[in-house]
Amino acid sequence: MGSIPSDVPCSHVLLFPFMSKGHTIPLLHLAQILLRRSISVTVVTTAANRPFISESLNGTAASVVTLPFPAAAAAANIPSGVESTDKLPSMTMPLFYEFATATSAMQPHFEQLLETLTPRVSFMVTDGFLWWTLHSAKKLGIPRYVYFGMSCYSVTLSIEAMRSGILGGPQPDHELVALTGFPWIRLCKEDFDFDMRNPDPNSPGFVFNMKTLSSTRDSYGMLVNSFYELEPTFVDYVNAESSPKSWCVGPFCLAEWKPKVYEGGVNVKPTWVTWLDEKLEEKGRVLYVAFGSQAEISREQLQEIAMGLEESKVSFLWVIRKDEWGLPDGFEERVKGRGMVIREWVDQREILMHESVEGFVSHCGWNSVLESVCAGVPIVAWPMMAEQFLNARMVEEEVKVGLRVETCDGSVRGFVKRERLKKTVKEVMEGEKGKKAREKVRELADMAHKAVEEGASSWSTLNLLLNETC
Ligand code: UDP
Ligand code: UDP
Repeated sequence: MGSIPSDVPCSHVLLFPFMSKGHTIPLLHLAQILLRRSISVTVVTTAANRPFISESLNGTAASVVTLPFPAAAAAANIPSGVESTDKLPSMTMPLFYEFATATSAMQPHFEQLLETLTPRVSFMVTDGFLWWTLHSAKKLGIPRYVYFGMSCYSVTLSIEAMRSGILGGPQPDHELVALTGFPWIRLCKEDFDFDMRNPDPNSPGFVFNMKTLSSTRDSYGMLVNSFYELEPTFVDYVNAESSPKSWCVGPFCLAEWKPKVYEGGVNVKPTWVTWLDEKLEEKGRVLYVAFGSQAEISREQLQEIAMGLEESKVSFLWVIRKDEWGLPDGFEERVKGRGMVIREWVDQREILMHESVEGFVSHCGWNSVLESVCAGVPIVAWPMMAEQFLNARMVEEEVKVGLRVETCDGSVRGFVKRERLKKTVKEVMEGEKGKKAREKVRELADMAHKAVEEGASSWSTLNLLLNETC
């Protein structure tokens, strides 16, 4: 596909993703969207993150620049050589905040780079977690857009929960409270991370969140990876309530999406894609199971997932992280032919877009939700951390493209027993509620594909942004 001649004066955009897969992938898709509009793109990262980024942008005109990341010097508990949260020994909050804070050691190098890049950077899109990039942007007079990988629904719920006193309020963590402005939405404190539930101005989490928030407020704009038709009420709310202005220009995952062609040689079809092809010939329906790149799953919970999948009798493709262990004895042998377990990095978009995939057990990371919506695949929602609990509410209660698994004690973060997983999986794959969710998600998939077409909502919003900024 050729690029569209640019009729806007933005010549060069700098993208600086936060160092984790979930924060990087959408910005790499955004790079493709900008390149299509004949805008030069520079992606800033660190040496250890470069191979993944360069490979993803291989064959495009994007430049990738690396900056030194002296994290080990800046933060005592970050092991030397760790340049991504995917590689942190754990995602416990103090360690995450320490890592995110250590990124500010890159600031002098970043500013040197900004001064030397040619043509001069028209604007930058940097992750919300890289709050310090605003200071560099201001110093050099460059507009900074904040990339926030959240839905407008989650942003709305967070703002409203703060305003209505749910966060910091006296009620027990699990008590559901209706939101004043959105009475059909009921939330509890447990939907939020511990640091947000009972704000303590002295905790590292609070300090970090405040830095992120205030630098967002002072930035030039917010770039949102969503599309208007998915959540109009909440896009309108964020537009009315948030400062700076926010721009919905997604879903980024539709950028340059085309089915892969495998020619053999180095370009061999992965075994799991061949397996999905075979399932399609058998007219089988496959459940895809994956919990993203960060969630930590206990051994006990992993075993319960395995047993639930085994007992459900559905065909499944389950991606587990390399460092996860402890599948029940003989599990893979028993499910052979019907179930496949993968321990490698997969192209999730490709799997979800595969015709035989008809359900997705997902942790509801925002990218995964969008990718599932774009592929028209209903979701079995199983949130695990961060704002995934809000996304899961959106999936089940608001846009109604899936069902949530019930925990054994009914709490937001509790253990999930195999019977519950089995029940929800069967409902989504074979039941009436699943059928409804499938119809709904397919309608939304059509809307998503339309939104990014020339002249439609996301396309026009990006045009406006480019015209207003440069
Ligand atoms: N992903 C992938 N292959 C994998 C695991 C993850 O392509 O083996 C991608 C997935 O498609 C998504 C991103 O990694 O784009 C994960 O982002 P998400 O917001 O879903 O979850 P996170 O990993 O940030 O928790
Ligand atoms: N500025 C910038 N990039 C941004 C946001 C602001 O270069 O993303 C510049 C802005 O053009 C102005 C200065 O930084 O020259 C101060 O911006 P702001 O409006 O936030 O005022 P402040 O409250 O910091 O004085």
